[in-house]
Amino acid sequence: MGANRHMSVDSRGRYTPEVDGAAVSGSEGPAGSRTHNTISARRGSLMQEPVLVLNATYEPINVTAVRRAMVLMLKGVAQAEEMHNAEVHSAAHAHEVPSVIRLLAYRHIPQQSRALSRKNILLRDRNTCQFCVRVFPSSELTLDHVVPRSRGGRSSWENLVACCYRCNNSKGDRTPEEAGLKLARRPRPFTLHTSRQLMRLIGHRDERWRKYLFY
Ligand SMILES: [Zn+2]
Repeated sequence: MGANRHMSVDSRGRYTPEVDGAAVSGSEGPAGSRTHNTISARRGSLMQEPVLVLNATYEPINVTAVRRAMVLMLKGVAQAEEMHNAEVHSAAHAHEVPSVIRLLAYRHIPQQSRALSRKNILLRDRNTCQFCVRVFPSSELTLDHVVPRSRGGRSSWENLVACCYRCNNSKGDRTPEEAGLKLARRPRPFTLHTSRQLMRLIGHRDERWRKYLFY
């Protein structure tokens, strides 16, 4: 039960980086698609590795995947600030793979809940079912509307929680109280703090992100 069409279950159970999908969209056009095709990188996870996106002011604003980050670089929208220890090869060139990129033009980022997505909700809830408080792989979790949609419950950070299928079934179309379930914690709304928190969770293994996220 996704809140919108971006919330489809990742069948591979694999996580694709996403914090604020809207932040660098709008810059992808036909040129972007062409660039995609010319990078015949070896298939695999490298192109899906998370890349931290900084605004022109060095403010962290987003997390994207290597593939998209390289498109932004090739289009001259962004430049690499930190490199990954890897390269991808196209027919003629070896391309260095970024770990952190920075947008060359300042982009106004309205503080809104655009970052609402299945992945981000699961990240916020640390892949923990908010009813039975057990940790599951992403593929075994769904999103539960705390107040069911049939009762006017909205698809928002405050009304969506990570939920295992079992709890989701037993809750059905009821409120937690009606179903005799208790929320592990009140779902936190999206704030700048949440956004940083998510970026830290995604980037905790990458030392190169550190100086932009922990200060
Ligand atoms: Zn559960």
